[in-house]
Amino acid sequence: MHTLTLIFLVALVGHAAVQLWLARRQIMFVEAHAATVPAGFAAVISPADHAKAAAYTAAKQRLGMVETGWDALVTLGLTLGGGIAAIGAWSGQASGSPLLAGTLHVLGVFAVVALAGLPLSLYRTFVQEQRFGFNRTRPAVFVADLLKGWTLGLVLGGAVAAGVLWIMATAGAWWWLVGWAAWMSFSLLVTLAWPRLIAPLFNKFSPLEDAELRRRIDALLARCDFHAKSVFVMDGSRRSSHGNAYFTGFGREKRIVFFDTLLTSLTPLQIESVLAHELAHFKLRHIPQRLVVGALMSLAGFALLGWLAGQDWFYSALGVPVRGDAAALLLFLLVVPAFTWVASPALAAWSRRHEFQADAFAAEHSDARALADALVTMYKDNASTLTPDPLHSAFHDSHPPPAQRIQRLQALVPASVRAR
Ligand SMILES: [Zn+2]
Repeated sequence: MHTLTLIFLVALVGHAAVQLWLARRQIMFVEAHAATVPAGFAAVISPADHAKAAAYTAAKQRLGMVETGWDALVTLGLTLGGGIAAIGAWSGQASGSPLLAGTLHVLGVFAVVALAGLPLSLYRTFVQEQRFGFNRTRPAVFVADLLKGWTLGLVLGGAVAAGVLWIMATAGAWWWLVGWAAWMSFSLLVTLAWPRLIAPLFNKFSPLEDAELRRRIDALLARCDFHAKSVFVMDGSRRSSHGNAYFTGFGREKRIVFFDTLLTSLTPLQIESVLAHELAHFKLRHIPQRLVVGALMSLAGFALLGWLAGQDWFYSALGVPVRGDAAALLLFLLVVPAFTWVASPALAAWSRRHEFQADAFAAEHSDARALADALVTMYKDNASTLTPDPLHSAFHDSHPPPAQRIQRLQALVPASVRAR
C-alpha cells in the first residue's frame, strides 16, 4: 500500500470518528439538560419549548451522524473504490475532445455526489423538519428548487470546470496562479450577479413597505454612516418557518434582505437591533477580512493542486490509474477536506469573536436589550439549543453559546435602562 493511501485513510476515518464523537457528546449534553430551562431564559422560554429544542437538536445531530458516515463512504467509493476512474473512462469514450471529456468527467462525478446526497436531503425536509413543524416546502417547490439548482450547477460548474481545465492544459508550469486569478474573478462576478440574477430564481423579493420600520432603518443607517441601496423582504416562509436577515452585494449596490418570517416575530426596535448587528460585520471590516483569508486559502489550495497534479503517486495512491487534469481536480476536491477540517475550530473561534464584536456594536448604535430579546425569540422560534456541549460548540459553532451571548449583551444595557 502506498504511504499516501494510508495517510488518506487515517485522515478520513479520523475525521469521521471526531465528528461522530462530538455529535454523540452534543446529544448526551443536550438531553441531560433538557428538563430544566437555564435560569436566564426561564421567563421567556417554557419547559415545553426547551424540551422541543433538545429533541430537535438531538434529531439533527443523529441525522448528521448518518450523513458523516455516508459522506465518508461516498468519498471512499469515488477515490479508492474506483468511481473517479470509471467516470473518467466513460467521459473519454463519450467525447474525443480532451477539454469536453474532462468537463464531462468533473460534471459526472458531481452528479454522483449530488444524487448520493438526495435521500438525506429529502428525509431532512419532509420527515425531520416536518416532524418539528418547521417545513413549509411543498413537494413541487422541492422539485423545482432541485431542478433549478442542478441547472445552475451544470451551467456554472461546467463553465468553471472547462475554464480551469483549459488553463491547466495551456498555461504552463504556473497555471495554478492563472487558475487562481480566474477563480477569484469568477467568484467576484457571481457575488455581483447573485442578488439580481440568481437569488430571484429561488425567492421573491419585494421592497419593505412598513413605513415606520423603514424610517427606523434609515435612521440607523444614517447614524452608522452606512449606504445601502435598498431594503427587501424575502418570502422565506415558502420553504421554512426559520427566520433570518442578511446583506448581499458590494459597495453602493448593497442590499438588506429580511426573511418575512423574521418581520412577523420581532418588534421594530428588535429588527433594528438585529440589523445593527449585521451592519457591524461591514463596519468592523469582518467581511473584507473573511474575503482576504478565503482568497489566501484558495491561493494555497491552487498552489498545492499545481504541485500534486504533477506527481504520479497522487493518482495511483488514490485509486486513479491514469494521470489527467480532471482527475487531479476531482481527487483534490474530494481528498483535501479530509485534512483541512483540523482548521475548523480556529475558524469557528475567529467567527465567534466577530459575533461578540458585532453584538457590542449593535449595543452602542441600537439597543442591547432589544437585541438580547430578539435573540431569545429567535432561539425559541428556531428551537436552537440553549445548552450546547462546550466542546462541540468550540469546534463547530460560528456563533457563541446563547447563555454567554445574552449575558454579555445584558452587561451592555445602560444602568439607567436596566433599573426599569
Ligand atoms: Zn453576526
